[in-house]
Amino acid sequence: MGETIFSKIIRKEIQADVVCETDNILAFKDINPQAPIHILIIPKIEIPRISDLNLPTHGEILSEIFATANKLAKDFKIDKEGYRLVFNCGSNGGQEVEHLHLHLLGGRKMKWPPG
Ligand code: AMP
Repeated sequence: MGETIFSKIIRKEIQADVVCETDNILAFKDINPQAPIHILIIPKIEIPRISDLNLPTHGEILSEIFATANKLAKDFKIDKEGYRLVFNCGSNGGQEVEHLHLHLLGGRKMKWPPG
């Protein structure tokens, strides 16, 4: 499995603005926010891409990632006005860090289609 900057954040070797942590997942503020609320939710186990998900084996972790996104949307008070959840996959998908992460974006009106 590839080592990424997120592995170092999980091991607390690099500081991040953590907003939620359990035995299985970590959520922290994106260092280069694209919206007033921009949080990344990652599994602690190393899964490089959404296409590497092994279902149903990874079902529980995926479920916890989505449950955390919805909980954080409430905590950050963007649940009523809405928000966007994004998994970028691979280079055409715009993925830079090869450790599965869900972007939670909110606090502004999103555009469609994405660039
Ligand atoms: P992606 O392009 O989908 O792979 O998203 C990677 C995200 O990780 C980008 O939005 C980056 O701003 C974010 N990022 C990279 N390094 C860090 C870091 N040290 N702390 C927080 N977010 C980071």
